Amino acid sequence: MSKQQRIGLLGGTFDPPHWGHLWLAELARVQLHLDRVLFLPVGDPVHKQGRVITAVSHRLQMVSLAIQENPRFELDTTDCTRPEPHTTVTLLPLLRQRYPDSAFWLLIGGDSLRDLPTWTEPAQLIQACRLAVLPRPGAEVNWEILETAVPGIKTAVDLLEGPTLSISATAIRAWAKQGHEPNYLVPTAVATYLHQHQLYQPQNA
Ligand code: ATP
Repeated sequence: MSKQQRIGLLGGTFDPPHWGHLWLAELARVQLHLDRVLFLPVGDPVHKQGRVITAVSHRLQMVSLAIQENPRFELDTTDCTRPEPHTTVTLLPLLRQRYPDSAFWLLIGGDSLRDLPTWTEPAQLIQACRLAVLPRPGAEVNWEILETAVPGIKTAVDLLEGPTLSISATAIRAWAKQGHEPNYLVPTAVATYLHQHQLYQPQNA
């Protein structure tokens, strides 16, 4: 009988992908003994309405470049090729069809955990997968409030333990808009892509 696969799911806008995403994936891979981590760029982020998002073609290219050196990290385009709305609770059954006997962990930062009550059907979501959470500096989680809003959440979470990074895509875009190269904030291949395509530059702000 084949061994059950353990799969991490890292959904995000990846505008751009940065070391915070890769560290979240790697820490989860190591601590939860994941066989693979799927990076799932979202086409139209439900949580970021009203904000201009970089074209999905650029974000897909950048995620490919960011993960290219790790054979356990894979790009999955499901969440940018299916019809909207792109909610996580409707994404999971699609992935379940493709990986029927696998165990899923949704990999998220502490900010996403804190905001989980605003997601679509959070109670249903935590029935469909476990959550692996890396605390994020500046995003404190109030477990009492969270448990009241989403009963059962405490037992659905695996807290990842390790260094945390306060890096965010927002800070990287802001840095680039000041005319700087985002060196050492993103993998070199992503920095080169941003440079080549002049993304987030002051003239494009
Ligand atoms: P933005 O600043 O544009 O909102 P972001 O840096 O939060 O973007 P996303 O693509 O929105 O990046 O994040 C996808 C997932 O990765 C989210 O669950 C987020 O919490 C998590 N994440 C991103 N950066 C970090 C980090 N530095 N530490 C822990 N989790 C992170």
